[in-house]
Amino acid sequence: MDQSNPISRRTRAITCVIPALDESVVTMRIMKFGAIAFADALRVRDTIRIIKEQHAKDPSVVVVCSALPGITDALLRAARAAAHGGEQEADIARRELWNRHRQIAEKLVTDEWEREMLFQRLAEQLKQLDRMTRAMATLGEYSARGIDAIASLGERFAALIIAVILRQSGVAAQMIDATELIVTDAHFGVARPYLDESFTKISERLLPMLQAGIIPVVTGYTGATRNGVVTTLGRGGGDYTAALIGAAVNATEVCLWTDVDGILTADPKIVPAAKPLPELSYAEAAEMATLSGSEILHLRTLMPLATRGIPLRIANVHSPEQPGTLVTALPTPTHASGAIISTRGLALIAASSSSLPTYEDAWTAELAATVTARLSHAGIETLLAHQSELDRTLMVIVRQPDATYTKEIFEQSFGKDYNVTLHPTVALVSIISAVHGTLLPSLAMYALGRAQINHIASSRSLHGAYVSFVLPDESVASAVQILHSDLGFAST
Ligand code: ASP
Ligand code: MG
Repeated sequence: MDQSNPISRRTRAITCVIPALDESVVTMRIMKFGAIAFADALRVRDTIRIIKEQHAKDPSVVVVCSALPGITDALLRAARAAAHGGEQEADIARRELWNRHRQIAEKLVTDEWEREMLFQRLAEQLKQLDRMTRAMATLGEYSARGIDAIASLGERFAALIIAVILRQSGVAAQMIDATELIVTDAHFGVARPYLDESFTKISERLLPMLQAGIIPVVTGYTGATRNGVVTTLGRGGGDYTAALIGAAVNATEVCLWTDVDGILTADPKIVPAAKPLPELSYAEAAEMATLSGSEILHLRTLMPLATRGIPLRIANVHSPEQPGTLVTALPTPTHASGAIISTRGLALIAASSSSLPTYEDAWTAELAATVTARLSHAGIETLLAHQSELDRTLMVIVRQPDATYTKEIFEQSFGKDYNVTLHPTVALVSIISAVHGTLLPSLAMYALGRAQINHIASSRSLHGAYVSFVLPDESVASAVQILHSDLGFAST
């Protein structure tokens, strides 16, 4: 650490247990493309150019693909509808899958033979989709296993098409189904990889290809159980796939290609002057991941990379010449700053008792603990929880799709003396800072107060490194703008 610089970066270690490295591994770059990179033929063309430029500089490149925008959603809708006997959604999804990929292929795959072969493979996948949705509709049965098999098709389509376009543009490339690489448990929807087995498979399968100068084009988000049953790693799981591959082969860098210039000081839609943060430590990125409810980055993506010290870059497909944000073990101290993270689409559920407490019904910590435990067992992530013994209230912030179920759990758990309320649209605005020290919460509160912005609840870290506010959705934009300018993020 530079002693002349008073700023201390939080660089506490975040690690997980991962297999030891094989000496024979070579270094390489992992490039993961999010849905936006495949939005249409023009975007795909840009993406191919980015891959080719990287490949020209550094021949060992692995590409990890997401599905096209909206495709995973359409597939999941189709699968869920089929489970309730509805086949119409499946029909819509099949058409969408076919049309969107065909349009890109018709523009970019000019070699007739390649195109013919591609269409044949896509048609086989569509038939499989058809068989699966029909089976589910006939049984009228919700099958987590069936849903994963269907949801994984989006990535397969994308990887197939990208591999063909790369080949056609003169680069040796081959589509690789991650079901061959990532071995997971059978927790469908959010399967957990067995790292030892997965790392062995990844090295065995990908290293020979790289040595032969071939770019593997891997499906993100998917894996398979030891018995070969397809699983998915959870929404946004493509980043995790890239991190796993990066850790398995000890990559030089893992780059997540998105549509923003890295991690910014605020949401650029709210603050046009928001600036990218050039460098972050793994610990700072982990804080942002958690505070954003994994919108920016998922903690599990960081773990294997932090453990191995592999840098993670977040770059923009629209401006590939920009460096984006680099997450490393020891960022440059002078690059320290902070960011405002706003997460919308949340709901607040609260229980409160208006009557004066009697001895028998006094608020107990056990009561609050039972409710939060029930939420966690139901797979509902609580982004913020707050309880007051004095007011006899418990309040939680969850994502909007979880709101109704959370309210039901509250109503079942709290007796009739409690009033359960639901605010369906709130937001969380969090500030993390490496420069304000322990004054951060007070400064932030003062800025909001001066602008007469009310917050519903707040939470802060003991050491003052971050503070979060729950706000009504309509005050988010002004709150973020005021905090961004008053706390000096605009000038860092
Ligand atoms: N396509 C998947 C999703 O939409 C995975 C990903 O994009 O990383 O969640
Ligand atoms: Mg993502």
